[in-house]
Amino acid sequence: MTVREGSLEAPTRHPLAWQSADFYDQASLDQELERVYDICHGCRRCVNLCTAFPTLFDLIDESKTMEVDGVEKQDYWKVVDQCYLCDMCYMTKCPYVPPHQWNVDFPHLMLRAKAVKFRKGGAGFRDKLLSSTDALGKLATIPVVVTFVNAVNRNSIARGLMDSVLGVHKDRRLPEYDSARFRSTAHPDASFPARDGDKTPGKVAVFSTCYVNYNEPGLGHDLLRILAHNEVPAILVEKEACCGMPKLELGDLEAVARNKEINIPVLARLAREGYAILTAVPSCTLMFKQELPLMFPDDPEVGAVAEAMFDPFEYLVLRHKDGMLKTDFKKALGKVSYHVPCHLRVQNMGQKTRELLEMVPDTKVTTVERCAGHDGTWGVKSEYFERSMKIGRPVFRQMAEPAPDYISSDCAIAGRHIEQGMGDTPAQKQHPLTLIRMAYGI
Ligand code: SF4
Ligand code: SF4
Repeated sequence: MTVREGSLEAPTRHPLAWQSADFYDQASLDQELERVYDICHGCRRCVNLCTAFPTLFDLIDESKTMEVDGVEKQDYWKVVDQCYLCDMCYMTKCPYVPPHQWNVDFPHLMLRAKAVKFRKGGAGFRDKLLSSTDALGKLATIPVVVTFVNAVNRNSIARGLMDSVLGVHKDRRLPEYDSARFRSTAHPDASFPARDGDKTPGKVAVFSTCYVNYNEPGLGHDLLRILAHNEVPAILVEKEACCGMPKLELGDLEAVARNKEINIPVLARLAREGYAILTAVPSCTLMFKQELPLMFPDDPEVGAVAEAMFDPFEYLVLRHKDGMLKTDFKKALGKVSYHVPCHLRVQNMGQKTRELLEMVPDTKVTTVERCAGHDGTWGVKSEYFERSMKIGRPVFRQMAEPAPDYISSDCAIAGRHIEQGMGDTPAQKQHPLTLIRMAYGI
């Protein structure tokens, strides 16, 4: 039988069989890791994507047999620990993804391994804490507490302590917390008549996300102002929990399921009522568009939410195609270095943010489409910080090349990481939503 390299059919993704007993079976997992590691060893296309693949190939090359069978099973985890589930190997490189008979889904195999490790008690206090974005945000944004938390984050002695005791790298630039939470300060305007387009629902519900709610409420306000400028009626999703992405990355799939039980009934009702649901954080959008549907393939409510979920720029560009987006931009943006985050690329919708930024007159956008290496919490951790900066180096260089007026990424965390990696730069970091709000002059 001839095994064809690559598939001529469109890639598909199998549901995550996380509720089957086999999923958590260590022997079965080891067997699958060995099978896929061996395919990767023969292929090696992904060597420069992240540090997971170099770790694997070094383990193989330095083993006695120089094959996967020479690698100790306990060393398999070293590869798993380097994967931050950006999905890029699946999306951009791998010719053996389903429906190819080899059925390689490297990120989902890493996720399964993380889930097995989590169930065995493999996550420490730091990892559980960092992935509890909602609880952490609620606590850190209490007035008085917020002043203390932000002061600690800026204090080098405190950061040294956090590094040695907690494992949060002392040099990682962390986001501030804001006591004026988005959900308590937002004033969405629902007064406009809803005008459906061919491609877009005429009314929007905003899922605020932990990050926007607790760290950068301004991004949510910018989104609401852009919607109001375009006379799109908007509301906030009345009740929300974390989308579950940080818990997914930790392998805590039961926690993902618990958050899903809070979010999905509320969001599904909005989807049924004809709302487009927008989040300003690509990872959260991806969670609803892709990860929850793969975890709960038979749940029609999850499917309805996935259908109604839009990235904000996807919505705005489609709105433009519907002839219902204002292009009365008043301010040029000059040179913008724009980074496309991995979790946006995975949404497979083209570069909608770039398209909208390029509609602003006298604006030149340089697009950098490469992993910046931060991930949600991975690049914060003491043991991964240096690697995260190393992975990001080509991005930092490409972003600086055009001597931009602005640096921008849809992922606010990646944006801060890039700004840190670029060092001294006269360029201002602004989220694309902020840039569009500025360009509108609102
Ligand atoms: S999902 Fe991303 S981090 Fe994980 S192995 Fe693939 S490219 Fe590397
Ligand atoms: S994930 Fe696919 S493309 Fe990447 S090294 Fe493995 S087999 Fe090759």
